[in-house]
Amino acid sequence: MKGSIRLFRIFGISINIHVTFLLLLLLFLSGGVKWLFILVAIFFFVTMHELCHSLVAKRFGITVREITLLPIGGIASMTGMPEKPLHELLISIAGPLFNIVIVLVFYFPLKILLGAETLLHPLSTATWPLTIAYVYWINLILAAFNLLPAFPMDGGRILRSILAQKVGYQKATRIAVNFGHIFALAFAYFGIVRFNIILIAIAIFIYMAASGEEMQVDVKETLKKFRVRDILSRDFLTLDKDATLSRVLELIFHSHQEDFPVMEGGRAVGFVTRQDIISGIHQHGMEKKVGDIMRKSFPVVKETDPLIKVHAAMQAGGMSALPVVRNGEVIGVVTLEDISRVYSIASHRV
Ligand SMILES: [Zn+2]
Repeated sequence: MKGSIRLFRIFGISINIHVTFLLLLLLFLSGGVKWLFILVAIFFFVTMHELCHSLVAKRFGITVREITLLPIGGIASMTGMPEKPLHELLISIAGPLFNIVIVLVFYFPLKILLGAETLLHPLSTATWPLTIAYVYWINLILAAFNLLPAFPMDGGRILRSILAQKVGYQKATRIAVNFGHIFALAFAYFGIVRFNIILIAIAIFIYMAASGEEMQVDVKETLKKFRVRDILSRDFLTLDKDATLSRVLELIFHSHQEDFPVMEGGRAVGFVTRQDIISGIHQHGMEKKVGDIMRKSFPVVKETDPLIKVHAAMQAGGMSALPVVRNGEVIGVVTLEDISRVYSIASHRV
């Protein structure tokens, strides 16, 4: 995530901290050593919460690349989303469950250690025992906040996975997104009434994240309905391995094509995208041959592949175009632009 710093790696997942979390650190430092202790505790409990999500996700074959800690919680960046609602349910519940387990396990030991009055005292940092009680209750707050049945909270995912089995994934998403918007408006209301900037910031974050989730699911559902052959234009240009980059640039200007299969003796041996050509010219100049800068290994797609699969292959390979192959022969090129055009047309229609 942009604006974040990597702290360490655990279970192959890098734990990053967002710069806004460091701002919070400055704020808390001015409050003395007890507030610093609380901040470290929040950091620890949020990290553990996210790790629990990640470890369950890993069990279902989803790779978690990084966890980013923001002042209002963590975000685990996963390479895919669980396809089965039950998997999404278990992944989503694992995080809040960790905080609930902490609350349950430490209740009696802390009651004995600190005394019931201290443990049940309203949140305060007046003494060290009260500060420890404060840290303990943070877990209940984290669990409760994350279990709100609204996107982007874990509770929203739990709600979607339960509803999805009855009304379908897309409709279930829309319901959880609407709840997200309602909670965001409620947070904004209280933020404005109480002049609380943090509440307003949380409201904006929830609203945008909820909308983002809906958008993502809409795109996914639309792209599942179309296949490569529905958008494939057979009218495309190829490049000879020995063509110079200046010749390619000329072709780009005179056609609407920006990504090309590279041929040698009638056989596709490589692929170049617009970015490859631009960076090739920057590094080697106009007279370099295409064959020297082309990608030799690249994903290929078939006519029958659904666009969702093509989109995923483009994202994984960091490419904006891919060749379409039939019986080992290139029959066309499909680009990210083609896909987004399909999306914008199809989404207006439905
Ligand atoms: Zn969570």
